[in-house]
Amino acid sequence: MTQPDIHSDELFRFAEEASLQEEAAVALPSWRCLIVDDDEGVHQAIVFAMSGLVVEGGLIEWLHASSAAAAREILGRERDIAVVILDVVMEHERAGLDLVRAIRSELGLGDTRIVLHTGQPGFAPEIAAIRDYDINDYRTKSELTRNHVYTCLAAAIRTYRQIRSINAGRAQLRQIVQAGNRLMGESDQAAFATTALVQLAELFGVAPLGCALLHDEGGEPKQIRVVATCCPPDYRQEDVLPSQGGPDQDLCQRSLNGSGLEFGDNGLALTIRARSGVCLVLYLRIASTLIERVDASVLDTFVAHVGAALDNRGLLWQLHHDAYYDRLLGLPNRRRLCDLIDTRCTAGVQSDTVLALIDVDRFGEINEALGQSFGDALLQALVDRLLASVPQEVTLSRVSADVFAVFGSIDWVTPEHLLPLFATPLLVNEEETMVSVTIGLTRLADVEDGNGSTVMEAAFQALRIAKTTQRGQLAWYSPEQSRRTHERVSLLNGLRLALRNEGLFVVFQPQVTLKERRLIGLEALVRWRTESGNLIEPERFIQVAEQSGLIREIGFFVLRQACSVLAELHDESGAELRMAINVSAIQFRHPAFLVVLRQIIEESGIDPSHLELEITESIAMEDTAYVRETLDALHEMGIQIAIDDFGTGYSSLAQLKALAVDRLKIDRAFVRDLRKADADASIAGVVVQLGRRLGKGVIAEGVETEAQASLLVSMGCLEGQGYLFAKPMELDVLKAWIRSQAQQTVSSV
Ligand code: C2E
Ligand code: CA
Ligand code: CA
Repeated sequence: MTQPDIHSDELFRFAEEASLQEEAAVALPSWRCLIVDDDEGVHQAIVFAMSGLVVEGGLIEWLHASSAAAAREILGRERDIAVVILDVVMEHERAGLDLVRAIRSELGLGDTRIVLHTGQPGFAPEIAAIRDYDINDYRTKSELTRNHVYTCLAAAIRTYRQIRSINAGRAQLRQIVQAGNRLMGESDQAAFATTALVQLAELFGVAPLGCALLHDEGGEPKQIRVVATCCPPDYRQEDVLPSQGGPDQDLCQRSLNGSGLEFGDNGLALTIRARSGVCLVLYLRIASTLIERVDASVLDTFVAHVGAALDNRGLLWQLHHDAYYDRLLGLPNRRRLCDLIDTRCTAGVQSDTVLALIDVDRFGEINEALGQSFGDALLQALVDRLLASVPQEVTLSRVSADVFAVFGSIDWVTPEHLLPLFATPLLVNEEETMVSVTIGLTRLADVEDGNGSTVMEAAFQALRIAKTTQRGQLAWYSPEQSRRTHERVSLLNGLRLALRNEGLFVVFQPQVTLKERRLIGLEALVRWRTESGNLIEPERFIQVAEQSGLIREIGFFVLRQACSVLAELHDESGAELRMAINVSAIQFRHPAFLVVLRQIIEESGIDPSHLELEITESIAMEDTAYVRETLDALHEMGIQIAIDDFGTGYSSLAQLKALAVDRLKIDRAFVRDLRKADADASIAGVVVQLGRRLGKGVIAEGVETEAQASLLVSMGCLEGQGYLFAKPMELDVLKAWIRSQAQQTVSSV
């Protein structure tokens, strides 16, 4: 075997690189090269030729095999072999080429470079083999001079390194895509920053050691703060932070100010910018020699990807914020407050917690009169005052345009604490402005099935009560009151249903002449039978119906029934009966009252002069054009008017005289109070005399005894109605009653 000849100029050239070796000895990477040759001399020559030389920034670590079989065994065991320098002819003529095939196909080592050489020119591999097995170089052994060995190995190692870097880049891109997905899952800023840092470290294949700094928009010089650190247990916190005033802090600042990526002796800084203006600076501790591991284009991709994730996070955060916070004042909104109350209720800490709702009185008017921006400023001033007067653990929330909630301990959320806050003017746009507020409060413990929405509803109920009863003041939620409200609501719902499903019906109570006991008329009275068959008294539901306006429909229903019964009775017996119908003030005052009334009369075909409407004293005495005109119109139609429960209100005699009213109805309370001794001086007696003077008819209701009847007769009252004569009856019972009365009259004649 020939010793490789070494040119002196080559030696000189290599000396420069060789001297580098000293400095870098510890940190330099190494390239693993396997020499496969049955000629021991070749091994020595190659190693000698390369001794002390730096190739592609690294030294060479040699592995040796003297046969194809031994080489195969080494290749199966060892990793990261950059180059195999291989003799073509060893155990047999094709041993080298067989090994090449094994390397590529069986062992699947696609990155490893192969350099072939042979001592016998006749055994050169065919071009096809060189191409198919991706062979880097082919030399005859005579070409193993130092410079040939060097250039050939350097080229092979460079290619190996490029292949590795492309493959690594591919893997890194995959990592980056995965990192993006992972980042989107991170809900808070610190977790996001930590994940980004870990991903960056992974790209470089180093342990995540460093920190993430955040720069929010604005502020010059750019101030950054640490949002996350990656610090293994055996490190001190300051080891992973860029030291104060040191070069690495400068590194981070430079990266932030423009360049994006900055390297230093101990680490790198990489800035990622979001569209919102927020910048995330990742500071990673890494040896400067390892920085080349990641290609600049890969880093660009990483930056773009993390930046997009940061943007998306920003959007998500904005959505989340908009969903839970008020835009104008930045306070938690109603939904957020409900969640907080829910949490408090679930945790079972309710006994000392209060929710207060503060409603700004006449805020709509203020807004209209002084403009929306003044209104906004007023709300802000109010919030500022509230915030300044409660500790942090009390939550302030805006639950609607002009309603604020104060939620927290009973030590703070009390009327005694809250009301004085509005006793002095607020400074709004440099103007002193007084605002008055109404407050509804509830203790969480007072609310049954306490949760966000029930507690909120309770506080709103209290607020409504405070508003209707004592504007500018406050009310506490009371479970008892709430129960009654509940009852009223369910009563009303039931009533609505009854009106649709024939749960309502009408009964008729006879009116008679007190002396002859002759039937002269009927009063129509409404009845409600629930689906379970219970009768509910009008006294219980008429008021609810009036409050809700449902009384109009009920009134017309009774009117329709009564008119059709009147027509039926007239057709059957030809009797000239009067039908009295109660008309509620709500119904009477409705603009369509006369129209509907006319329509019902027309449909039933009755004579309007047989109809009598019972109105209350309060309607009759309401001195308005509408009432007067309506009463006149009714009179013109021939309809009679009676004043119900007369004597319980405050009638003006002058007005009464002028009104188109036909009859006064003495309330049953006055009939009950009748005594023989002072009959004439009793209220009933006075009403009878009044009626006679004014030329109005008088009827007494609630006559239960003969004594009452005869006293009424002695006073001059001619007509009466009451249990003494008959109770209110359903139509079929009434018909039978009328027949039996006729029989009695006939038999008594
Ligand atoms: P009201 O108009 O004063 O009706 C007379 C009430 O006295 C009726 O009670 C009647 O059943 C009752 N009554 C009749 N005779 C006697 C008696 O001898 N002794 C006693 N203790 N009571 C007697 P009801 O039917 O329970 O009605 C109560 C109130 O409900 C009515 O008082 C009226 O204000 C209202 N109401 C009843 N039906 C209607 C209606 O269709 N429309 C309107 N708007 N209100 C109605
Ligand atoms: Ca009545
Ligand atoms: Ca009455």
